[in-house]
Amino acid sequence: MIKESLIGEFQRIVGKENVLTKKEALRAYSYDGTTSWIHEPDVVVFPRTTKEISDIMKIANAEKIPVTPRGGGTNVSGGSIPIMGGIVLCTTKMNKILNVDKENLTATVEPGVVLMDLNIRLGKEGLFFPPDPQSFLGATMGGIIAENAGGPACVKYGVTKQYILGLEIVLPTGEIINIGGRTVKNVVGYDLIHIFISSEGTLGMITKAELKLNPLPLARRTIMAVYDDLEMAGESVFRILENGVIPGKIELLDNWVINRIEEMMPLGLPKDAEAVLLFETDGIPEAVEKETEKIVEITKKYGARDVRAAKDMDEANKYWLARRAGFAAVFGKAPTVMAEDIAVPRGKIPAFIKRCKDIAKKYNVEMCILGHAGDGNLHPSILTDVKNKDLYDRAVKAMDEIFESAVELGGVLSGEHGIGLEKAKFFKRMTDPVVVDIMKKIKALLDPNNIMNPGKIWD
Ligand SMILES: Cc1cc2nc3c(=O)[nH]c(=O)nc-3n(C[C@H](O)[C@H](O)[C@H](O)COP(=O)(O)OP(=O)(O)OC[C@H]3O[C@@H](n4cnc5c(N)ncnc54)[C@H](O)[C@@H]3O)c2cc1C
Repeated sequence: MIKESLIGEFQRIVGKENVLTKKEALRAYSYDGTTSWIHEPDVVVFPRTTKEISDIMKIANAEKIPVTPRGGGTNVSGGSIPIMGGIVLCTTKMNKILNVDKENLTATVEPGVVLMDLNIRLGKEGLFFPPDPQSFLGATMGGIIAENAGGPACVKYGVTKQYILGLEIVLPTGEIINIGGRTVKNVVGYDLIHIFISSEGTLGMITKAELKLNPLPLARRTIMAVYDDLEMAGESVFRILENGVIPGKIELLDNWVINRIEEMMPLGLPKDAEAVLLFETDGIPEAVEKETEKIVEITKKYGARDVRAAKDMDEANKYWLARRAGFAAVFGKAPTVMAEDIAVPRGKIPAFIKRCKDIAKKYNVEMCILGHAGDGNLHPSILTDVKNKDLYDRAVKAMDEIFESAVELGGVLSGEHGIGLEKAKFFKRMTDPVVVDIMKKIKALLDPNNIMNPGKIWD
């Protein structure tokens, strides 16, 4: 419990209307984008400036009160859940786009800017921020940076870390630092911005970011390739790339996901297919046409039974709507869903898919796969029920083996959702102890009282 006098202090710093303490209000900040974990904070604070965050941090640090940063709360790894209570520091009122610099292809933003709002604003200037988590309607730039988020477009454009030039951070001690800068190149001492990108809110509050932007492509085209074999769909991913085409996007939906989406909102996806791959190629119109032809040719050569290029934007939008519905489709179908987030080298996708199928069979669990196949980033998801002990235990064992398989194949535990609350034990087991030790020392140096998002990554 936080002392009443401190609540008064927070109200003095940010204004009474920006502090929530009522039980029903706290409830709304007790979960993330899943139903997997729930824990209420003692107080939710909505700062409006960096200085306010710094003042709150100083108090939290002196009083050793846990602080959980929160943006849109759309993460799916428990990152924004105040598992130890304390303060939820929510940035949604720091949502200004401070500057768009067309000449230098950069923008300066506050952490609470929602990605969709940013891209609408940038679109007016013919620009865009390429990393595209499919939660773009609610995900904020602070959360996107803290999770190093990605999305379909990362095949060609890369993930968030490639688009952050500089950061303003409030450290857990309340000190305000500026790291990186506004230039594309910067080799001045250690590259500290990359310690904060993907730190999952455990090292400090991101209060401002300098973003690198791209000009909007002049043309784009969507292609859907239909497969009778899931592993073959996996193979097509790296065959396309090794044949010299780098599409903007390559996404995978398996038979289970296709049928579930069709059940939710019929879009005309092929329900009998074992898998579909969705491609988007973008760039100058002539190149897009050539790449489309090449994608059709290569996917047919490597086992697609049917390949069609969307005839217009309406058809293309329908396919991407289906892809975006993927997560909702999975989460709505069982009382408990373990939706994971591994990444493997692209050449290992078919082997990983086979392992997943074998593991699902071995433990007799219902599993589906979707994801950003073009990055080797897949979301194998097991449908289970935490109240059914036998079913749940089998699901846990199956997921453990899936993690082990990903790592054995040269992959990693998380491509974009982070370690969060649940993968800490795997993180420690599967990471070089010397590296774990270095990371722990960094955490202790920046956050000596362990107030920043305790319980995440480490415990
Ligand atoms: C339907 C759906 C689809 C999704 N699709 C994708 C996808 O395609 N790709 C992808 O990468 N992710 C995806 N996600 C996961 C999630 O949306 C992303 O991780 C997103 O970046 C989170 O942004 P947020 O603002 O909601 O952050 P939150 O959920 O509020 O927080 C995420 C983490 O960042 C920390 N944090 C938030 N703000 C700050 C800050 N200012 N300073 C320091 N730390 C901070 C939090 O403590 C937490 O650990 C999806 C989620 C859903 C529900």
